[in-house]
Amino acid sequence: MRVRLLPSMAGRESQLQCLTSFLINDRVSIDGGSLGFALDPEHLSAVRNIIVTHTHSDHTASLPIFIAEAFVSLDGPVTIYGSTEVVSALREYVFNDKIWPNFENIPLMNGSGPTIKFEVIEARKKIKIDGLAVTPIPVNHVVPTMGLLVEDVHASVAFTSDTYVTDELWKAASKIRNLKAVFVDVSFPDELYKLAADSKHLTPRLLESELVKLKREISVFAVHIKPTNRNEVIRQLGLLNNPMISIAELGREYEW
Ligand SMILES: [Zn+2]
Ligand SMILES: [Zn+2]
Repeated sequence: MRVRLLPSMAGRESQLQCLTSFLINDRVSIDGGSLGFALDPEHLSAVRNIIVTHTHSDHTASLPIFIAEAFVSLDGPVTIYGSTEVVSALREYVFNDKIWPNFENIPLMNGSGPTIKFEVIEARKKIKIDGLAVTPIPVNHVVPTMGLLVEDVHASVAFTSDTYVTDELWKAASKIRNLKAVFVDVSFPDELYKLAADSKHLTPRLLESELVKLKREISVFAVHIKPTNRNEVIRQLGLLNNPMISIAELGREYEW
């Protein structure tokens, strides 16, 4: 399984992450924060499946641009997966013929059907997406949010999405076969613990206590580090002295 945290910034060299999209095997995207901004036009139309973990803009911002840019080269629909909350919010607030065209009603150029389709995902119900088995697990964030367990024949990888202190995801991740890595939200430094609690994100110290729940020795990649606080979060993660933890590199492809 190949996993890449896509860059957030134009120019793409920056390691600052203000948006979230993970691209798996060049074909399946977790979240649409940067997808439509980070990929070159020739790679856009390979992405046919996007799993949206929650409605927040840093996870959905580039979806309209992605669909519009991929449109001319698509020969089949793009499927957007999300909880009922995600699907209804994207229909109501984004693809509503005001903010952006309703691409559910716009046929592909080859006439083979609508440009986008929505699929509702349910907590704990494993679904097959382009060679991957994906299990959504609810996590603790300010809006309904799914962490994801993603498995293929070679490896399993967990994605917390945005979360504060949570239990079920760690428990489920501890049980899955062949777990190699987890990408985990460490948005804020320890001194912003109140902001972290209010906005429901983790800090380095909270990550340390969360990892006690993960009964596995795997790679732990910190993501979603707020650009303003990045240096401090990285410094504090280093002080944890935990060899499992590293900072996910934007643009790098990890393979298991
Ligand atoms: Zn969020
Ligand atoms: Zn976020």
